[in-house]
Amino acid sequence: MVEDLWYKNAVIYSLDVDTFLDANGDGIGDLEGLTRQLDYLHSLGVDALWLAPFQPSPNKDNGYDVSDYYGVDPRFGSSGDFVELINQAHKRGMRVIIDLVVNHTSNQHRWFQEARKSQDSPYHNWYVWSKDRPANWNEGMVFPGVQKATWTYDKQAKKYFFHRFFDFQPDLNSNHPEVRAEVRRIIGYWLQLGVAGFRLDAVPFIIETPESGSDKPKQNFELLAEMRQFLQWRKGDAIMLGEANVLPGENRKYFAEGNGIHMMFNFFVNQHLFYALATAEVKPLIKALEATKEIPVTAQWAHFLRNHDELDLGRLTDTQRAKVFERFGPEKRMQLYDRGIRRRLTPMLGNRQQEEMANSLLFSLPGTPVLRYGDEIGMGDNLDLKERAAVRTPMQWSSSKHGGFSEAGQTVHPPIEDQEYGYQKVNVAAQRRDPNSLLNWTARMIRLRKECPEIGYGEWMILPADSPNVLALRYDWRGNSLITIHNFSAEAQSIRIKPGVAGSHTLCNLLVDDESKQDSKGVHKIDLEGYGYRWYRVGGMTHLLHRTRE
Ligand code: MG
Repeated sequence: MVEDLWYKNAVIYSLDVDTFLDANGDGIGDLEGLTRQLDYLHSLGVDALWLAPFQPSPNKDNGYDVSDYYGVDPRFGSSGDFVELINQAHKRGMRVIIDLVVNHTSNQHRWFQEARKSQDSPYHNWYVWSKDRPANWNEGMVFPGVQKATWTYDKQAKKYFFHRFFDFQPDLNSNHPEVRAEVRRIIGYWLQLGVAGFRLDAVPFIIETPESGSDKPKQNFELLAEMRQFLQWRKGDAIMLGEANVLPGENRKYFAEGNGIHMMFNFFVNQHLFYALATAEVKPLIKALEATKEIPVTAQWAHFLRNHDELDLGRLTDTQRAKVFERFGPEKRMQLYDRGIRRRLTPMLGNRQQEEMANSLLFSLPGTPVLRYGDEIGMGDNLDLKERAAVRTPMQWSSSKHGGFSEAGQTVHPPIEDQEYGYQKVNVAAQRRDPNSLLNWTARMIRLRKECPEIGYGEWMILPADSPNVLALRYDWRGNSLITIHNFSAEAQSIRIKPGVAGSHTLCNLLVDDESKQDSKGVHKIDLEGYGYRWYRVGGMTHLLHRTRE
């Protein structure tokens, strides 16, 4: 039964414990702080949290440099605090997904410290070494412009080690059976503590076999199948949500007909979505949706607007990317790694109507929406901070000191204080009281999304909308149909659509008291305001109440 697959119809909320709420007043967000705010997340309608890494770490890459996989960094609390978080989340029917960062470890991890000591160390081959400097030592960097190499000499080992990311993040050798067994132990450990799954960091790099001198490393997809099998033996409904920014077609290997990862972020659609937001031209977005349409029945796309990284535009053509830069990141300091924009959604778009349209679109795309903390209140960014830190500022709870994030004299991550997006103006407390706030709008949209299971479970198609600026989607599931329409242009549009499904003489608007009636040719003429959006149930109001069983 498709309804058993909870992740196909969930709302996921991503956050960093570090920047959410500081309960103990040391200037750093912590697990207890997050636990205190579960009611907030629950009332917003969140089904699952995705937590960025909180394990012990030298924290040179925002925790993505783990030095111990079996614990909680003392900055965030203890394992006891983690179990309490899980308990409180479960009490509210919420799930918790955590980051699994096993492409590499921190160079401070005991395994690497042992590995570099001697070739005879049992940990030596847990990492990837080369006696000589490989010809491609300065190619394939994840952080171009900041990272200088992918092979670096280690004085102690007297060899070069491979690191797809920074030089303090040596790659684990995923071909080594003991490394694979250890990854399974890590998965088993956190499942036992109650997590609902893992967001797999850097999947294409986890499964590659780096070899010196090889530009196209072999990818071991059977590793994903192996992980899935183990995961499901231990916990039937646990999932893997993969970070893999790959071309359409490639994703089939990751889903592997239902034997690979369960979910993938749809980076391809995300980039074309931002192109559409920047130019009002929807054709490339439609192409991207069509190109990623075919997925196994148990698989699911995760859609997002912004995430914790830069907005990566590497898959667009140079001309397309230039247009997105021009509209959303014209200044050099807004750009990052020659491929992306390090800004939050609200300042990028710069107007509420387009922001609503973009979020409404997110909730209506074929897949599961993943929200980024703070986007529900329209938080801004701080471009004075380094690289990705621009979008990783503390959550703005109120207008009091540090935005209610912390009682500390000084916080580790500075909250935003500027005129337009500072916590004095943009915060949860103020928006909670304002019925027209973005926060209350978002909660209403989440409720609506949950009343439309067609999106997560059903079939979808693009409806011709008679305008190059309008995207119309139709979903069908168990005799019910839903149509969503989004106008990417700032100009009003009059469109004509033919729903092409039984009972579509009337379209019932789910957001306001309004309906559309077809003309004698079966066509609906719909007037959309600039950046307008519509959610229509096909048929009258009664269709809201009756859902056929299968
Ligand atoms: Mg703290």
